[in-house]
Amino acid sequence: MARLRRIIHVDMDAFYASVEQLDHPELRGKPVIVGGDPKSRGVVSAASYEVRPFGVHSAMPTAQALRLCPHAILVPGRMERYAEISQTIHTIFESYTPLVEPISLDEAFLDVTDSENLFGPAETIGQAIKTRIREETHLTASVGLASNKFLAKLASDLRKPDGFVVITEENREETLDPLPVGRIWGVGKVTEKALHTGGIETIGQLRRRSVAELRRIVGNAAEELLRLAHGLDDREVEADRQCKSLSSEQTFATDVADPDVLLGVLMEQVEEVAQRLRRRRLKARTITLKLRYGDFRTVTRSETPGESTNVTNLLWQTAERVFRQWHSRSGGPLRLLGFGVSGLEDEHAGQQLLFPDPQQDKLKKLDQIVDKIRDRYGKRAVHRGNCTGRNGPETTD
Ligand SMILES: [Mg+2]
Repeated sequence: MARLRRIIHVDMDAFYASVEQLDHPELRGKPVIVGGDPKSRGVVSAASYEVRPFGVHSAMPTAQALRLCPHAILVPGRMERYAEISQTIHTIFESYTPLVEPISLDEAFLDVTDSENLFGPAETIGQAIKTRIREETHLTASVGLASNKFLAKLASDLRKPDGFVVITEENREETLDPLPVGRIWGVGKVTEKALHTGGIETIGQLRRRSVAELRRIVGNAAEELLRLAHGLDDREVEADRQCKSLSSEQTFATDVADPDVLLGVLMEQVEEVAQRLRRRRLKARTITLKLRYGDFRTVTRSETPGESTNVTNLLWQTAERVFRQWHSRSGGPLRLLGFGVSGLEDEHAGQQLLFPDPQQDKLKKLDQIVDKIRDRYGKRAVHRGNCTGRNGPETTD
């Protein structure tokens, strides 16, 4: 029998609403709705835990939500901010496994089966991810761990918020059986209604029906549903290797003018992005700096050196040169600095060097060592020596 997979599902708790409460302390403990204007038929995109007892949930028209809870505070969404935090959590995920399948900004599957050798049991990895998310974003996530995607997603939803639920072979049936059939991923309103009409309310009741009986109720979905009711699911975690670019950016609490401090931040970003490239076995052709001034004007500066690479030092050389050019011509205090790469291709694409380059080999070995240490002890564990301004400014996070 094949070895059991170890699949983790991570889901941030009331994500957009929690971010608003984090950034705006006056909203904490209050019923908060992130959503569109009720006058233009907007919908709720997130509801804080304080507003949920009123029956408010996401995808509901904002107007209806405000009727249910008239004293709720409606705030517009800030996708850029949510995407920034999403980037942070995905970087955390990728430090444990390259097999990360993002489902949305705040949700992802991770296959950590082969990560156990390096990081210890999957339970430890799941806890570590929760801890790091809390430390690096000041937000909570719920984590589910199981032998497949279906069970992992179900598990992460069982004890929200801030939950950590492991479904094992031993507790699988007792966990599944009392749950309503609507909790099965993929069972929509129509199927749920058909099952209810057929007298099936819980997953346990579903599991005890025969395929023939179920086929009369839900048609072709019968077999798949029955498999899920048994907790069986062999869908793989599909890592996102199709990505076109990778980036890292930081917003400062107060504008930063000191070029050394900015270079320190940039170095950190280059290191992070380069490591993500190597993890995905990709290399990049183009590097881009994103620079936002205090007055919100944003400029980008790109360069495409001759050869694509994922070697930290080579990316850094280009990034530093582009930064210095920008600084000497149009430098000024920044509220945001970002580093990104694009023009991604497979690590082994392109022509092989006829003769090995000992200097490049040395740099690659250095990268391997740094990656290992950062994986094990966190990204602040290693600082390279060729960079000034190590102590970055406070961030808004
Ligand atoms: Mg969520």
